[in-house]
Amino acid sequence: MTAAPTTQTASADTCPTCAVPLTLAEDQPPWCERCEWNLDALAPLERATWFYRSIRARDHRAGFRADRLLATGEPVLPGRGRAFTLLVVVSAVLVAVPAAALLAAVWLLIAGPVTLGLLLLVVVLAVRPRLGRVKKVLKGHYRVAPDRAPALHALIERVATATGAPGPDIVGVNANLWGAWTTVAGIRQRRILVLGIPLVASIDRAELVALLSHEFGHFANRDSWRQLLTRPARVTFGHIASGLRPSRKSGFEREFLGLYLIVYELWRMIIGLLSWLFFAVHAAISAVAAREDRRAEQQADLLAVRVAGRAATLGLFDAIASFPLYRGVVSGATRKGYALRDWQDRITQNRARNDGAETGRLRQLTIRTQASLFSSHPSTGRRHQFVSTLPDTPATVTVSDAEWATIVRELAPYAEVLRNELAEQYEM
Ligand SMILES: [Zn+2]
Ligand SMILES: [Zn+2]
Repeated sequence: MTAAPTTQTASADTCPTCAVPLTLAEDQPPWCERCEWNLDALAPLERATWFYRSIRARDHRAGFRADRLLATGEPVLPGRGRAFTLLVVVSAVLVAVPAAALLAAVWLLIAGPVTLGLLLLVVVLAVRPRLGRVKKVLKGHYRVAPDRAPALHALIERVATATGAPGPDIVGVNANLWGAWTTVAGIRQRRILVLGIPLVASIDRAELVALLSHEFGHFANRDSWRQLLTRPARVTFGHIASGLRPSRKSGFEREFLGLYLIVYELWRMIIGLLSWLFFAVHAAISAVAAREDRRAEQQADLLAVRVAGRAATLGLFDAIASFPLYRGVVSGATRKGYALRDWQDRITQNRARNDGAETGRLRQLTIRTQASLFSSHPSTGRRHQFVSTLPDTPATVTVSDAEWATIVRELAPYAEVLRNELAEQYEM
């Protein structure tokens, strides 16, 4: 099955500044590939309120500008500047309040009244800062121990050493994930890497090195430490906002009468307003935090280039931008026991057939579709643009034929899980 091209060059309309034909994509406003004219335009939304639409448009414009600035300016290290300091201070206060309350609770338990102490203790436990639990983080993923995938773990070690980072303590695989991520969780702050099978099927071995070195770049740059320092500020106001959200059911629907109805509706209005206020604070903090995250992503990309070389890093972005073309390939319609290799072969053929023009358009489209102040990643297209400006350096870690074949064999069983799932859906 070949995926239909999703973009094309329109012959009727031309760019007002450089007179080349505009590019069209399904459900998207046309834009100029050469000068990015109209690329900042956003596809209109049907069935959305005026309020949501205007917020979305503003966020998109600002996100587009922020991404462009990041890709074309000097890289800025995350953790610098007043915004980060503010996040740390807010987080410190948010930790200090429950800590003080805990001391007060202990005092009350000793000196009485004990019931008040117990009550306070319950509240403190409910709002305590959390470090995340490894078990919870790994839910829905397969844990891949070194003895099950020695070649994969050996490559991970080599890449980690090259990035100067400690390797992950736990490697996980997700059968359905078109992506990969790292995190740090638990009291022991265990480093976790999760690889998505569809992503692995879409990239070649050099691009896998680029992917791993980007992920370990987060460990090397101690991004999790910065995340931990700012975590209370990032999550608390959102939790409070959703906790305060008033019931959707009005007093009329509940058939309340008289004074009871008035008090109930007043209460709903007040907590609704409070919830909205807390949400506004949460949104503002999220935008600041996301800018930090995008800077961290850029630093991780720099490390990927150093370890995997520029070509492989650019190839990784191209593969990610081309996911819409590969989605049809990763299906249940493959031979049992050969899913991963079949998908890889077909995607490789797809990439070879593609002259780069289609990839270029899809990549450019991500600059529009992924632009948001709340996005933790710069758009794939802007990351590509930024890395393209770097000197062309070769890879320092390479993967041999035998090594790659073993890694594919080690990951194949997880691809079968996805294949069977997809085949079952197909039959249903
Ligand atoms: Zn133009
Ligand atoms: Zn990243």
